[in-house]
Order: sequence, then C-alpha cells, then structure tokens
Amino acid sequence: MSLWTWVTIFILSCQYSALPPDNLSDSLLKRISGVYRRMCHAAMRAGRPPDSAALVAVTKYFPIDVVSAAVDLGLRVLGESYVAEAAAKREQIQQDNPLSTISWHMIGHLQRNKVKKAVSVFDCIHSIDSAALAGDVDSYAGRAGKTLDVLIQVKLSDEDTKTGVAQVGVFELAGRIINNHKNLNLIGLMAMPPFFEDPERCRPYFRRLREIRDTLGSRGIPLRELSMGMSNDFEIAIEEGATMVRVGSEIFGER
Ligand SMILES: *Cc1c(COP(=O)(O)O)cnc(C)c1O
Repeated sequence: MSLWTWVTIFILSCQYSALPPDNLSDSLLKRISGVYRRMCHAAMRAGRPPDSAALVAVTKYFPIDVVSAAVDLGLRVLGESYVAEAAAKREQIQQDNPLSTISWHMIGHLQRNKVKKAVSVFDCIHSIDSAALAGDVDSYAGRAGKTLDVLIQVKLSDEDTKTGVAQVGVFELAGRIINNHKNLNLIGLMAMPPFFEDPERCRPYFRRLREIRDTLGSRGIPLRELSMGMSNDFEIAIEEGATMVRVGSEIFGER
C-alpha cells in the first residue's frame, strides 16, 4: 500500500479514537473504516488520489440512534430517500449535535408535491429527473433564499422501475438548469445500474455515465461529480470514476 493509504487510515483512526466503547459505535466504526479502506484502494487502483471519492452514508430506514452514532463517529454527509423521514431525522440530529454541520443529500425519486419540504431539508439533490422538477426545485429554492447543489439522474437501462432522464435528454436539461435556474448549482450526474448479483456487470453502466459526463464537458458543460456505486458495487464505480458513492447496508447492515 502507498503512503497515502496509511496516512488516510491513520487520520481516520485518530478521529475515531475518542469514542465511547459501546457496541453500536464499535461495530459501526469497524464497518465505516472497512468501507473507507476499500474506497481508498479502489481509487488508487484507478490511479486517483485515495480520497478522491466521497462517502454518502445512506441512512434511510435506519433509526435515529444509528444515525446519531454515525454522526458521532464523524460522518458528515448523509443520504436519505424520503422527505418526511429525512426532515424528522435532520431536526433531531441538529438538536443533538448543534455544532456539527451535516450535509443532507436526497438520493431517492423526488415527487413534485414534496419539493417545497425537500428544499428546506436537503442541501443536495441527486435525483433531478425532469425539466419540470428542476423548475420546481429552483423556484422553491429561490423563495427560501437558498442555493441547492443538484445532480441529474440519468436512466441507463430500459427497466420500468428506474427513474431518470434518458441519455439523449441530458445535455438539454443540463443547459436549461445552468441557463435558467440560478438557484441550482449543477454539480454532476447520478445513475443506478440494474441490480446484478455479480457487480462486475455494472461496470459498463458506470463507464457510460462517465462518458456522458465527459461528452458534456467537451460540449461546454464541465461537471465535477459522478454519483454512482452502492454497497454491492462501489469499488467498481470508483474504478470507473465515481466521486460520490452512496453506501447504506455495507455500513449499517440490512434494513
Ligand atoms: C438505498 C439506496 C442506496 C444505498 O443502497 P445500499 O445497497 O444499502 O448501499 C444508494 N442509492 C440509492 C438511490 C438508494 O435508494
């Protein structure tokens, strides 16, 4: 392993050394450091700096004490799929940890009738999947005096269950957001490949999302972030260029 890995692991273990020795924290600590270690290795295999992908810890369906323990351990970016659930957790976590700044990311499909609430709860939305939704989020963000980071969710397969913008529509939606929606800060693209037992089969999907991002760049829309990879496949996603991985069960266990 390179020096960078050891430095990263050392820094992580310092942050965690002042923990209360209860079981929940202990087991979370093991799982989180395991995920970080695998993230570092995957990045280095791809010739990238070990910390070049960020961990979005997906806390959906997990109770507040688990989320709270994760925050105590130093996690600062949390992913949720449901607006009401995230709102309740955010309020509680803010009360319990008034000094920590947590970034709340919406990773699930956002229904248009939940946009107003979502804008007040989330700092980043990964799942912008239509021009109408982008317009709604922009106007509520404007009214709230807030700028939101957003990603366009791209539909990479024909599965009915997956939401997202078809590949051919991504350039137009990106341009529309950049030109017309001044309360949105378009930072990247997000995708969810179909589920495969063998995560290696996700690789072509991840690669395609990166290619779409690179094509946008060559057409004058440079985007930094690729949100791709979950518990089952985050290492492959990082090898293919992910800058944000959304990991739930690998940290918190089965839901
Ligand atoms: C639930 C969820 C995740 C996390 O899934 P795990 O398999 O638990 O890591 C990531 N992204 C999205 C969009 C999700 O809904």
